[in-house]
Amino acid sequence: MSSYDVIVIGSGPGGYVCAIRCAQLGLKTACVEGRETLGGTCLNIGCIPSKALLHASHQLHEAEHNFAAMGLKGKAPSVDWPQMLSYKTDVIGQNTKGIEFLFKKNKIDWLKGWGSIPEPGKVKVGDAVHEAKNIVIATGSDVSTIPNVEIDEKIVVSSTGALELAKIPKKLVVIGAGVIGLEMGSVYARLGSDVTVVEYLDDITPGMDAEVQRSFKRILEKQGLTFIMGAAVQGVSATKTKAKVAYTLRKDESGHEIDADIVLVATGRKPYTDGLGLDALGVEMTERGQVKTNSHWQTNVAGIYAIGDCITGPMLAHKAEDEGMAVAETMAGQAGHVNYGVIPGVIYTHPEVANVGQTEQELKEAGRAYKAGKFSFMGNGRAKANFAADGFVKILADAETDRILGAHIIGPMGGDLIHEICVAMEFGAAAEDLARTCHAHPTYSEAVREAALACGDGPIHS
Ligand code: NAD
Repeated sequence: MSSYDVIVIGSGPGGYVCAIRCAQLGLKTACVEGRETLGGTCLNIGCIPSKALLHASHQLHEAEHNFAAMGLKGKAPSVDWPQMLSYKTDVIGQNTKGIEFLFKKNKIDWLKGWGSIPEPGKVKVGDAVHEAKNIVIATGSDVSTIPNVEIDEKIVVSSTGALELAKIPKKLVVIGAGVIGLEMGSVYARLGSDVTVVEYLDDITPGMDAEVQRSFKRILEKQGLTFIMGAAVQGVSATKTKAKVAYTLRKDESGHEIDADIVLVATGRKPYTDGLGLDALGVEMTERGQVKTNSHWQTNVAGIYAIGDCITGPMLAHKAEDEGMAVAETMAGQAGHVNYGVIPGVIYTHPEVANVGQTEQELKEAGRAYKAGKFSFMGNGRAKANFAADGFVKILADAETDRILGAHIIGPMGGDLIHEICVAMEFGAAAEDLARTCHAHPTYSEAVREAALACGDGPIHS
């Protein structure tokens, strides 16, 4: 039996980052992972592989739509799907092996197998029981489906199956206009599929700024995606080669059906803690099946912590990473902290959608007096040169103090641009601080500065 200061269960972005930070802080650390490779959902079947397919399909889109205008003549490339999948697999391998290297470098033991907690201070992996002063549950989340929809990962797929389709479908029906539905819907629309998204609500990407929702939907429609909104999916019937999606329109309760070669179920994820033995340990859970933690990520059982998708908060890799670092610092006797008010969200479509802080709706509901500074990428020289002038940056600032309260971007590299606003918010900056910061020309970042200027005396280029 080996003994550790910390055993982290799960090696996704929450778990592996936590393990590395623990080791850096001098704690003897092990990480339990039952998958063949490290990195969890994000690296193996989530964020990273989907970004490879988004990148490849965007290159095709550029070749088909923009090359000729730039004087690049010739036929657009055709898609070699098996090769695209193998490129994606290679990207996964490079990333998961990278984590393995980092574990070795930081002297973290990888305990291979599925872990459970037979009693506080002990973690069982296979037949071996290891001792740990502290245990961190970082077991993530799993696909959650809806009633009467059975995922077979062949015809009716989750995000996992959508990354491994045998061929590009002629007709793809996506259930749910959330992040997964729109990212994967974009991939297949660019690869030539006829994509229809069926969404229960009246707006796409629930919780997002309403102006971004409207603009994003228009842009996706222009790219060929079809939306059926206010439609509650009642069930999916599938044969070996086809499927039928039945839905009712909420406005009049009328029933409809739509045919598909492939159905992607993208209706959310649920916390995953199966097999850990939390019930027997008496670990308190929330009504939604999440592990209940206090503000230091401690459960009600001494020495057991939890982070990431299996606790409350947005199911985002970077939120899990931040919690992983903070809980490591807490266990090492430091003051770990996560600022939940400044966690960006990004959708990696083209254009990208990014947000941080509060939306206009939230500010209105809270009765907060605010101003909105907006700047369209149409006024950004770099965006125009790159056929990327769709979208805008909107900064929301306190009407009186000018302090930045939120930002919403739809546009090129939005997922990168958002971070200067995150840093500004961490420092409690005013919009004027961004506006007075020199931004290199010509860059997309100038649109952020112009939006900040729009909170004051006005932008220059609109
Ligand atoms: P989601 O919660 O983002 O969206 C699910 C959508 O499905 C919602 O719009 C919901 O209204 C709709 N829906 C639910 N039931 C329905 C029904 N019966 N009929 C029609 N529509 C229905 O979920 P997701 O897109 O599956 O993503 C899961 C999680 O993974 C999210 O927490 C997301 O943040 C995370 N994720 C993040 C990224 C990223 O940050 N880029 C990428 C992928 C996944």
